[in-house]
Amino acid sequence: MTLLQQSPGLRGQRQRLVKPELLAPAGSLEKLKFAVHYGADAVYIGGQKYGLRSNADNFSIEQMREGVEFASRYGAKVFVATNIFAHQEDLPGIADYLRELDSAGIAAIITADPAIVETAQKVAPRLEVHLSTQQSTMNWQAVQFWKEEGLPRVVLARETTMDEIREMKSRVDIELEVFIHGAMCSSVSGRCVLSNHFTDRDSNRGGCCQSCRWKYDLHADNRSVADPGQNLFTMSSKDLCMIHHLPELIQAGVDSFKIEGRMKSVHYVASVVNAYRQAIDAYFEDPEGYLLRPEWVEEIGKAANRPLNTGFFYGTPGATEHIYEPEEKPAPYDFAAVVTDYDESAGIATVQQRSPFRPGMEVEFIGPGGRCFKQTLGDLTDAQGQPLSVARHPLQTVKIHTVQPVSPLDLMRKRTD
Ligand code: SF4
Repeated sequence: MTLLQQSPGLRGQRQRLVKPELLAPAGSLEKLKFAVHYGADAVYIGGQKYGLRSNADNFSIEQMREGVEFASRYGAKVFVATNIFAHQEDLPGIADYLRELDSAGIAAIITADPAIVETAQKVAPRLEVHLSTQQSTMNWQAVQFWKEEGLPRVVLARETTMDEIREMKSRVDIELEVFIHGAMCSSVSGRCVLSNHFTDRDSNRGGCCQSCRWKYDLHADNRSVADPGQNLFTMSSKDLCMIHHLPELIQAGVDSFKIEGRMKSVHYVASVVNAYRQAIDAYFEDPEGYLLRPEWVEEIGKAANRPLNTGFFYGTPGATEHIYEPEEKPAPYDFAAVVTDYDESAGIATVQQRSPFRPGMEVEFIGPGGRCFKQTLGDLTDAQGQPLSVARHPLQTVKIHTVQPVSPLDLMRKRTD
């Protein structure tokens, strides 16, 4: 979808704005389905080789086929991260793997290593090659270089500023993908070896154990300098959140809005995608009258409770943009169940349990497009119609009367307090 609009940030030039792609993480087939159902235009996943999230529930080729088939029903695409920096020993087999991705219907790979770029271009020319953020691209000349190498898209470093993005778009005709939400590295992204040194897990081959978020005592001259009773120290960055700045990102010409978090929960992925989907669509329905709605911001805050900031978009984060205290508060809501069926005539939802709930508990149902209502749970029954005093078993089938209609893949959540 396109529209013409006077862009206040572009010195009076008339700018053609293209609706950006909303690109969501999918650490498993289930998360892929939720991400697409809640509004992602594309998802990125990891295969069982060559990715940077070795702890995610990575996809087999068969699962990729199923994911592609599901996504295509919504007109969405599936990208595969093949973004390790490959040692020599990693490369045998890459050509066959890329051919398999191609045959599974994957739309693009995300890669940083020129050896993988070149191999993909030779053996699977239908696959788009997107340059990974691991290449730390932050200037238009580098973007131009990758365009000349035949790449249609560059995923910019998280350290790129808004002004740099504007300059890239004004000088190079190429798609730019930008992280708009999620975790940040406390070092320059992709240039950290804390995990390698502390645990022998290579952060550039998928093994980062987030050592920056551990609790540290501080020592100087062989003694602790932490005040007694004070919190231990962490080096964790605040998370990125650009929901307040979407019009500026759109006017800067960003082609793809990327959400970080292949290790995050179904609830997190659904909530964050749901919020950004509504905001992007609202902007393109009425750019002049667009206003950020508080419920979109609240929705993001219901699934995670880490402090947020705007990362590097408006300059290098300072000392206040780190989290020094180790205590992280839990998210205010917890995923309780997913709706699998709804009997409209009886007003009864069949749900699959994801964490315990019981009659009398206040819960909230959410669905795509901002559908949301609260209710107090009445009687619960199991699949055979037997009454339940508590739904305690993971994946248990439970029947619930809902005060409003619900649909399959709607989520039921409960307050964590
Ligand atoms: S340890 Fe922290 S800063 Fe280093 S790569 Fe992992 S997440 Fe990033």
